[in-house]
Amino acid sequence: MEQSKVEKSEAQWAAELTPEQYEVLRGAGTEAPFTGSLLYNKESGMYTCAGCSADLFSSQAKFESGSGWPSFTEPALAEAVELRADNSFLMKRTEVLCRRCGGHLGHVFDDGPGPDGQRFCINSAALAFSPEKAS
Ligand code: FE
Repeated sequence: MEQSKVEKSEAQWAAELTPEQYEVLRGAGTEAPFTGSLLYNKESGMYTCAGCSADLFSSQAKFESGSGWPSFTEPALAEAVELRADNSFLMKRTEVLCRRCGGHLGHVFDDGPGPDGQRFCINSAALAFSPEKAS
């Protein structure tokens, strides 16, 4: 992917993002389950990063996991996301970040329904939705 990295100061991010977006993307926060605006979105299109607008997940990869967070079987492009071990809160998890801006998106688990068995559990607050960018 030829997209250049997006780097901004925390003050810039705080000014541009809503408090909810900032807490998730820059603070690695987790929104309360079943509260996200995109959880039940079933439109065709592209889920993009709320921080930098990078294409992250296609609606074709979205599925109803019952977890309370938007869930996907795979990223739109493998290079769009970065995976990192996260051992916080005494759990062994894998954090999912936007590769372009470094924003925290959520976590990936290995109990997904697709052939790769992945479940990308992503905060609604980290995403924006573009109905016209279906792929
Ligand atoms: Fe981003």
